[in-house]
Amino acid sequence: MPDLLTIDEALARVLEHARLLPDEEVRVAEGDGRVLAVDAVARVDLPPFASSAMDGFAVRAGDTPASLAVVGRSAAGLPADAVLEAGQAIAISTGAVVPAGADAVVPVERTRGGGSAVEVERVEPGENVRPRGGDIAAGAVVVPAGATCGPAQLGALAAVGLATVRCARRPRVAVLATGSELRPPGESLGPGQIYESNTVMLAAQLRRAGADAEVHGSVADDEDATRAALERGLDADVLLTSGGVSVGEHDLVRGLLGELGAVEVFWRVAVKPGKPVAFSTRGSTLVFGLPGNPVSSFVGFELLVRPALAALQGASDPRPAFLPGRLGMALPRNAARDELVRARTAADGLVQPIRGQESHMIARAAHANALVLVPRGSGELAAGSAVSWLPL
Ligand code: AMP
Ligand code: MG
Repeated sequence: MPDLLTIDEALARVLEHARLLPDEEVRVAEGDGRVLAVDAVARVDLPPFASSAMDGFAVRAGDTPASLAVVGRSAAGLPADAVLEAGQAIAISTGAVVPAGADAVVPVERTRGGGSAVEVERVEPGENVRPRGGDIAAGAVVVPAGATCGPAQLGALAAVGLATVRCARRPRVAVLATGSELRPPGESLGPGQIYESNTVMLAAQLRRAGADAEVHGSVADDEDATRAALERGLDADVLLTSGGVSVGEHDLVRGLLGELGAVEVFWRVAVKPGKPVAFSTRGSTLVFGLPGNPVSSFVGFELLVRPALAALQGASDPRPAFLPGRLGMALPRNAARDELVRARTAADGLVQPIRGQESHMIARAAHANALVLVPRGSGELAAGSAVSWLPL
């Protein structure tokens, strides 16, 4: 048997097949998780005018320290029309326009009085003045194409006056579970049955990856039913199936996908859990056959599907964002497969594997907030070893 593909090799093949989706206008207010298709450019200088960083008095720094005549007030949104002359002060609030003639603001804590006259301590020129354009200049790129928008990016886009941006449209992803043993949660279990848990899990992962999830429910391990369900799912940009990709006689998914015209790019990857994962394409549709074990599906999504969704949306770096860390306890290494170990990050900076690493143990996995990569090899990885881990 030829060597299995490594995770990186499998991911490279997935990314080769992920073609950028067309872009559309997206309201910034609805842009959370979306990837910019073109650079977003500031419409205004930010701040748009020289503004005060403090509540206090606008002055000429060269006058200070001094007792100054208070000749007006500049409030946020209601700038003073007065021009400041030598020997004068203008009361000012945070965010208000620094009046012409002033070059500094004395914070109120460093003043006394303040009716018609105010005693101010010494300030340096420019102190407590936010210069116009000090954050960004009009015309400059505020968030680049390929960036994924989170709260800070959306705040920046709004601050420079943008109400809409161009983003790749959300990938439409069909989700189909296979398995005659599967029952919907909420119903009662018959002999040999288990609750179907992969579609809710995958749908939540999909939403967080910016995709529109269409859950097609589950089908029994029956050729006609499975074929019909796959055919429906192949209309989407991406079809995710769970189960039915191993070597059992009820594992129908790969054969049926082939009959339906999908071309298999790979089957099986040197990863634990999730080795039987299959990837194929039909036209521009990407098809991931995830193994049914819930933790295998979960991990396969993070390693291969999430990056594919990022690439479809034009993310500049679609690969999983592993972080450096240190392993909290010694772990045996798998000779043939890289392993993704469910773990928790601890206050001491260590990532601590949780108990219960088998691929059916989704309840144990629910305690994890990290996947630690344990590269294949012999012997064990010692406690304290440098490792890469993926935040969940
Ligand atoms: P399979 O990949 O179809 O051989 O399934 C592997 C294991 O995962 C079996 O124990 C299945 O019962 C279980 N399984 C398959 N699909 C699901 C699902 N959607 N939800 C929960 N467990 C599943
Ligand atoms: Mg099955």
